[in-house]
Amino acid sequence: MTATAAVLLGAVLRHGPVARSTVARLTGLSPAAVTRNSAALIELGLLTEVAPTVPYQGIGRPHVPVDVNTGRHLVAGLHIAHEFCTLALLDLRGRVRARLTVPHGDPGNPAEVLAVAADRLLRLHAEELPGHIPLGLGVAAGGWVDPEQGMLVEHASLGWQGVELRALLTARTGLPVLVDSHARALARAEQLFGAAGDRESLLHLFVGNVVDAAIVTGGAAHRGPRSAAGEVAHLALGDPAVACPCGRRGCLEATVSDRAWAWRAHRAGVIDHPNIFDLVEAAEAGSAAAIELCLERARLVGRAAAVLFDFVNPDALVVTELGTSRLPACVRALRQEVAAGSRASGNTVLPSSFGPDVLGVAAGAVQLDALYADPLNLHNPIRLGV
Ligand SMILES: [Zn+2]
Repeated sequence: MTATAAVLLGAVLRHGPVARSTVARLTGLSPAAVTRNSAALIELGLLTEVAPTVPYQGIGRPHVPVDVNTGRHLVAGLHIAHEFCTLALLDLRGRVRARLTVPHGDPGNPAEVLAVAADRLLRLHAEELPGHIPLGLGVAAGGWVDPEQGMLVEHASLGWQGVELRALLTARTGLPVLVDSHARALARAEQLFGAAGDRESLLHLFVGNVVDAAIVTGGAAHRGPRSAAGEVAHLALGDPAVACPCGRRGCLEATVSDRAWAWRAHRAGVIDHPNIFDLVEAAEAGSAAAIELCLERARLVGRAAAVLFDFVNPDALVVTELGTSRLPACVRALRQEVAAGSRASGNTVLPSSFGPDVLGVAAGAVQLDALYADPLNLHNPIRLGV
């Protein structure tokens, strides 16, 4: 029944509001199984019946459509970036309903940073959506995150190692906590809620202050031993003139990360402060030098993506990077570079679906992915890690 409920909920997510008979046809499930599982999911508050748009005039039972219930539950999200935490509340369709960023007070004290963020997140819930029941807290970060251990194993730019995210945040919030890398969480979010919805396999490349990647096949992200998969920061696909803290030169992250690229633009005199948002905003305002720098970064990212692309041959490549999420010309430059550098064809290259909400979606998706994989297990304390 678990797998059936997951298929049903996934179909309603994609097609809802939708009649149960249509769900049966779309999924190949028997009408009896759809009826039984719909009832269970309605009981849990995950599905809801919606009023038909056309008044019923026929004979027999009316086809009352069902949809994902976005009015009863929410998931909380906490994303840890280099300089700040993003706090978010998401409905069950993955939409960010409230969002806030909190700068790290003392980045050298992870427990303190997390405690402050957790308290603020609980307040955000009380202020913005007090009537919605939180199902759990999803935590996402760049770097090496181990979901099984509930641990941030290493975040190089923050200098954090072995941070017990799940234990710390469960104790502080009382919520069930799941953690994962933001690259993997966003790869699944693109399949569940984004433009890559019907693609079987997906490669996701995240380019922020951290540069990492994720591969999704068969509805699950590949993790590998200790969940260390996705490390692409030190691939020698960057600018050979750039030195990396790892001791080598030409590493991808050292060249194209938000900070590295903002400093490059700042040194070139294009922006007053080394801030990537300033660069992209200058490009949006029409600065030719800023546009060219954004395009150059998109091309470098595309060159790296092309290598990964041929290796994995996914149905779709999604790139999360500020320039490509804001400037159509950067998406074109990225696509051109992937096409020029890759032997694969017929695959799709997409920018992130989530715009300014991307970090909040990453965090919330850690919980939502688990929910959509096993919706009837909603209150199972073992799965929820408490
Ligand atoms: Zn390196």
